[in-house]
Amino acid sequence: MLIGVAWFLGASISGRAASALFIAFIVIFLSAAAAVFFERASTVKRLKALTQTARLITGGDLTKRAPVVSEDDIGVLAHSFNTMAESLINASEETKVIISAIPEPLFVVNPQGNVVSANLAASGMVWRTEKELLHKSIRDILGGALVRRTESPEAGSGGGYDLGIAVADAILASRTAIFDEAFIKRRIFEVTVTTLRNYRGKISGSIVMMHDITHRKEVDKMKSEFVSLASHQLKTPLTTINWFLEMLLAGDAGDLTDAQKEYAGEVYGASRRMARLVNDLLNVSRIDSGKLKIEPTPTQLEDFVQGIIGQVVPVGGESKCGVDFEKPPEKLPQVPVDQNLLGQVLQNLISNAVKYSPPGRCQIMIKLENRENHDYCLSVRDNGFGIPKDEQKRIFEKFYRASNAALANSDSTGLGLYIAKWIIEAAGGKIWFESEVDKGTTFYLTIPLTGMKKKETVLQFPS
Ligand code: ADP
Repeated sequence: MLIGVAWFLGASISGRAASALFIAFIVIFLSAAAAVFFERASTVKRLKALTQTARLITGGDLTKRAPVVSEDDIGVLAHSFNTMAESLINASEETKVIISAIPEPLFVVNPQGNVVSANLAASGMVWRTEKELLHKSIRDILGGALVRRTESPEAGSGGGYDLGIAVADAILASRTAIFDEAFIKRRIFEVTVTTLRNYRGKISGSIVMMHDITHRKEVDKMKSEFVSLASHQLKTPLTTINWFLEMLLAGDAGDLTDAQKEYAGEVYGASRRMARLVNDLLNVSRIDSGKLKIEPTPTQLEDFVQGIIGQVVPVGGESKCGVDFEKPPEKLPQVPVDQNLLGQVLQNLISNAVKYSPPGRCQIMIKLENRENHDYCLSVRDNGFGIPKDEQKRIFEKFYRASNAALANSDSTGLGLYIAKWIIEAAGGKIWFESEVDKGTTFYLTIPLTGMKKKETVLQFPS
């Protein structure tokens, strides 16, 4: 177009002036075209530099900066970009500072289970520098350490298993998990694996946090040893007292007057209750220290249950409870159970049914069922006080007694059901109940068809 205009002007003024004008136009045109070309080339170059910087920063190199060579739009863009990179560095540094300030060992891992970041405490725990830990698999780092219990009640059957495998499995399955007791270099840790998600909800890795519970465990161990020692010391004289009282009441030392019989009977009752309490305390300390073993032997369940009923019901004799026992229609095969432990559980359920029922109109129904292809189910039903709804979820807790238990005016401790639950679940069964206030309560427990699972003492505290 410019050439057209030059030609038109040239044509209208003629001669040398016209050609000079034409050349001037051509020069102006070429200069403008060159300016546009160089401007474009420079813009493309700066944009390329900006893109390259963006790539490097996205790749993790937060030290890179875009060149700011002008005040134009691209210059402003590059400047804003650099400010953004600076904020990213600040945010990442802040996170690093927070992580390193946490006194407990902490690893941040990617979804494949490789370490992305680890704090000082974590390096110290495994005796490796943070650099040595980076990109290493958490399975290898924690491998070899043993873990005792997990969030699952079935686990922790005795010998302990590999912490590295347990943690890596939780990470790969994007599962939040808690491992109660992990033994690392003579210390004990509670290990928590928590899944991390980005702002879009996509899994971006996990945090493995270790909480040092060595001191708490030492105190627990001392408490447990004290209870165990005290209970053992109390058990022997109590057994002797009970023997002699039984002989006295049986008339082995001559006839007693009615008053003497009454007083000796009271002493005998109190001493038996104390023996039960001492036994419960011993069991709790064995459970807490992982020393309660389950040793099943083949047992004819119907006869065994009948025997336990015979032992418990006379004790609650004055309550005048009617007791029915419904056996399975066909004789059961012999089932391996730990007679001592299952006996204690049943005694507790039956004596509770007696204790928490109104004297004089108490009816207890005990039922043994063979739920074929499933399990053996034992239930103890009473028509007693029941357990208030809002207290039912706490009934298996250690030392818990429902508010209406006081009505029973009994010597309860709140330990029986805690022990029962531990024994039945450790043996592979289940225990639960249904209850309605003033109508009654039914406790159920199951035993696997293969019998109670054997349990050795579990991994011990490193001494
Ligand atoms: P204890 O009977 O020594 O208190 P347990 O652990 O056996 O200890 O029972 C805990 C609590 O559960 C009792 O204090 C009582 O409140 C409630 N409980 C247990 N069995 C029954 C039952 N059959 N009927 C009503 N309440 C019961």
